Amino acid sequence: MRKLASIQKIKSLEPIKGADAIEKAQVLGWQLVVKKGEFNVGDLCVYCEIDCLMPDKPEFEFLKSKKMRVKTIKLRGQVSQGICFPLSILPAGDYTEEGLDVTEVLGIEKYEAPIPANLAGVMKGSFPSFIPKTDEPRVQILQDFIDEYKGEKCYITEKLDGSSVTYYMKNNEFGVCSRNLELIEDDKNSLWKVARELDIENKLRSLNKNYAIQGEIVGEAIQKNTLKLRGQTVFFFNIFDIDAYKYVDFNEFISLIELLRLTTVPVVDNKYILGNDIEELVEMSVARSLINPKSWREGIVIRPYKEQFISGERFSFKVINPKFLLKYDG
Ligand code: ATP
Ligand code: MN
Repeated sequence: MRKLASIQKIKSLEPIKGADAIEKAQVLGWQLVVKKGEFNVGDLCVYCEIDCLMPDKPEFEFLKSKKMRVKTIKLRGQVSQGICFPLSILPAGDYTEEGLDVTEVLGIEKYEAPIPANLAGVMKGSFPSFIPKTDEPRVQILQDFIDEYKGEKCYITEKLDGSSVTYYMKNNEFGVCSRNLELIEDDKNSLWKVARELDIENKLRSLNKNYAIQGEIVGEAIQKNTLKLRGQTVFFFNIFDIDAYKYVDFNEFISLIELLRLTTVPVVDNKYILGNDIEELVEMSVARSLINPKSWREGIVIRPYKEQFISGERFSFKVINPKFLLKYDG
């Protein structure tokens, strides 16, 4: 679970050219603007990440025009992600441990984009327990991890801003799932429609193996359709071997998707050596989409060539393009 608000240290403070009332702070791997003099390097603060939905209380009044949402903004040319508050906004009690999750005590919720009916579908059951749900942590909280895995041979794909879909074949049963649910067949539901259009059930059956394939449905009426696509389609990013309970490695993933005559998310780089400078990684995420070069890409996802699970977590993370957030995350 993502810690939306937590106790964190001010790692550094730097002046912003041409601005005397504000300065740039670093918290975790995030860069943000703070009031000059409000914090010193090493101070603890309450750091609220982007996507926090703050409660309607006087101390958060200034976010009213933003519907209480913490967003990516730009101040004096400086991209700012998240907000630092002094510890004094916390209720009485001992909340001073670095890293402590204070989302709940502050009454903060997560902003989620509304899901249109054509995507939501009708629930058949909970998400199958034999397949992991799709998710990606953000690079900004992974400094220690990338320090340790710096130099790993990785590949980079383009992250698409659509809706997650999982198609699976298990013991000859075909299933269609959204991010969190399995869905009843329904020709009005985009996930099922795309499955029928691309003949996914028969294609999966032809493999004679229990596989789940996971991808992103994008197109008209999905999120903001920032890629300006006609119709709806799916780009895949995972193949999961259900019986072995593991993802197939990159090379096998590419050849299986090709064999099925389906499409992967765009591969941005297939021989990337992992670096550990978060600012550089964020810079790298800033580029146009390979699907529609007129639009910013949402970001990138970085994974090792050979799949790795490290203390129960998949080695895989996202780097979101701040320019995409500034433009579309409104
Ligand atoms: P957060 O956890 O950061 O609050 P979130 O859980 O809503 O946000 P997303 O930002 O949507 O997550 O990022 C994870 C999702 O990205 C995955 O569930 C998957 O559906 C989607 N995705 C899109 N493109 C890719 C890709 N190239 N590789 C992996 N996942 C991708
Ligand atoms: Mn998530």
